[in-house]
Amino acid sequence: MPSTLFIDGRWTAAADGGTREIHCPADGSPVGSVSEATREDTVAAIAAARSAFDEGGWSGTPAAERGALLLAVADVIGGTRKAEFARAESLDTGKRLVESEIDMDDIAASFRYFGRLAGQEAGRVVDPGIPDVASRIVHEPVGVCGMITPWNYPLLQVAWKVAPALAAGDTFVLKPSELTPHTAILLMDVLDGLGLPAGVGNLVLGAGATAGAPLSEHPDVDLVSFTGGLATGRVIAASAAPTVKKVALELGGKNPNVVFADADFDAAVDNALNAAFVHSGQVCSAGSRLIVEESIRDRFVDELVRRAQQIRLGGPFDEAAETGPLISAAHRDKVTAYVQAGIDEGAVLRCGGEWPAGALESGFYYTPTVLDACRSEMSVVQDEGFGPVVTVETFRTEDEAVAIANDTSYGLAAGVWSQDAGKTERVAARLRHGTVWINDFHPYLPQAEWGGYGMSGNGRELGPTGLAEYQETKHIYQNLRPAVTGWFPQH
Ligand code: NAD
Repeated sequence: MPSTLFIDGRWTAAADGGTREIHCPADGSPVGSVSEATREDTVAAIAAARSAFDEGGWSGTPAAERGALLLAVADVIGGTRKAEFARAESLDTGKRLVESEIDMDDIAASFRYFGRLAGQEAGRVVDPGIPDVASRIVHEPVGVCGMITPWNYPLLQVAWKVAPALAAGDTFVLKPSELTPHTAILLMDVLDGLGLPAGVGNLVLGAGATAGAPLSEHPDVDLVSFTGGLATGRVIAASAAPTVKKVALELGGKNPNVVFADADFDAAVDNALNAAFVHSGQVCSAGSRLIVEESIRDRFVDELVRRAQQIRLGGPFDEAAETGPLISAAHRDKVTAYVQAGIDEGAVLRCGGEWPAGALESGFYYTPTVLDACRSEMSVVQDEGFGPVVTVETFRTEDEAVAIANDTSYGLAAGVWSQDAGKTERVAARLRHGTVWINDFHPYLPQAEWGGYGMSGNGRELGPTGLAEYQETKHIYQNLRPAVTGWFPQH
């Protein structure tokens, strides 16, 4: 029986002995067997995190020491054990090894960023405007953090939560996606090896409704930070409401990529391809909604289709592959139904929409898909597909481009392409999205905030705000000359 839960500093099996088999989505091959936590296991992990916070010394450790631990984690994930981490990530997700290697560098960069930030947000002195009063703001750890993460960038999404939480002095219970648990297990092994005190970091694995739900419901959790789909985000926010805990939500997107006629054509086509098809579109910020100026539409979409048809699919260790499979059979069924709904509503299938046969048949592959002649009101334009599918709409004026790009209930990320710097600035200022790329798509920086407007979520990860999410803010007001107030006279 595997013992892959990490609770109160010990590796343990699930309370009922439950296990789950993980298979590689690229070919269905077995990757490993892990513990499947029950509610009881998660409640035990919450208790461990609670007492480590309330009674342990972690939050009182000098911030520089906590920072040093994060820097050491960065050195392991980005260095000494990078190959092991990348391989584990690729086997769980099916993504190309080179992509996982890039992810490990990004993860190391996040740990490094928060390692250096630890202790730097030292609060501030407030001018009270009153004689004989001292007033200051201090930042304190929020307490016990529940963390729930998805499968598309398994360890990256974990890092964006664990690194700031540890920097802030919090304790945590992490529940990664049940489909991709292995790099979270490796991370806990690293933290344990570096001497993280028992109970500070806890890991439970398993299904959301059982292993995950106590993290939003339990009164001993002070903050639940969730990255995943909109439907689950709503459930988590609702189940967190009775305990009025803090809720941070990083949800999905249907992200516009606006291309003006005066854009650098080759760069814009190439990046439109990356925006939509990197990691087979299983990216929250995928540029899955192409909005192109009518005058270049035919040429642009023809070239996009031509190049999309050339993308080579394959497994993690196939060096000729350019992108990998979808995460599961169920997810491929969802993407297939999503594309069909678009066609039923009048979209024109220009390429893709197929399950490749032959050598790829044992994996959950789906060919890069371009849906042309779309309109804003179509479900395929409004809903997140989370697969290799891009919808095409057109515009004639700058105002129209902005209106279409903002016609979404989401608001995670957007791109705008033009060689007119005034135009790109004007459009960027009007886009209601948490990240706007000008003449680029996808890059992010650990030192810059990430998050969504609208139904893409609440709060921000990364940057100073990403640390502040894991802190409480306290005002300390001190009367330097205490005296009788006389408000209630003595009788
Ligand atoms: P999902 O919502 O199905 O699952 C996410 C996590 O929530 C998993 O760990 C799952 O087990 C857990 N969960 C499910 N039900 C739960 C419940 N009732 N209580 C507690 N936990 C529960 O999402 P997914 O399919 O794993 O990931 C894809 C989604 O994630 C996409 O919508 C994508 O846009 C989003 N995402 C967003 C960002 C971002 O930064 N905004 C980043 C990556 C992914």
